[in-house]
Amino acid sequence: MPEHIPDGDEVSRHLFEPSMKKPGGDLWWENVFMFKSDRSHAESVVWNRYAASLAEVHALGCYKQRQDRAAGKSKATYFGAIHANVGEIRGLRSKNGIRFDVVHEPKEGPHHAHIKYEFHNRAPTPNDKSELKVLLRKKFSNPPSGHMCPEEVKIAGPKQRP
Ligand SMILES: [Zn+2]
Repeated sequence: MPEHIPDGDEVSRHLFEPSMKKPGGDLWWENVFMFKSDRSHAESVVWNRYAASLAEVHALGCYKQRQDRAAGKSKATYFGAIHANVGEIRGLRSKNGIRFDVVHEPKEGPHHAHIKYEFHNRAPTPNDKSELKVLLRKKFSNPPSGHMCPEEVKIAGPKQRP
C-alpha cells in the first residue's frame, strides 16, 4: 500500500556514470532529471524513511547497478547520491503554477518513490517542465555523497599506486 510521504522527510537520487557525470566531474544535470515521457514523466528516488542511512542508500544504488548489468540493460556505474527535502521539492512552482509531487511507489520496494509533475486544470507545457527541472537542481545537495563499490576499489587500486 502506498503511504503518504511527509514534507519533513528526505529523498535521495542515485547517480550513475557516465551519463550523469561530466568529464570534469560536475553533475550532468540534464541527465540526472529527465522526466522522459516513456517513464511517465517521473523520476525515481529513495524515500529515506525506508533507507535511513547513507550506507543503505548506497546499497540500493549498488543493487540497481548489479541488476541492470545482469539484465544487459546498461554498463552504468553507481557513483553516489544527492539528497533533498520533500517539502522543498513540493514548494517549487513554474511561472504558470505547475509543481512537483513526491509519491510512494512501493511496487519496486518499500523505499521506492517518484518525483512527478502535479497538475489539475492543465497539463504542463514544455516551459513548465524546463523551469521546474532547473529549479529542482537547487534543492538537491551537491557535491554528491560519493560511493565506490568495494570490487571497483580492488580493481582500480593497484593502478593508482606508483
Ligand atoms: Zn557499490
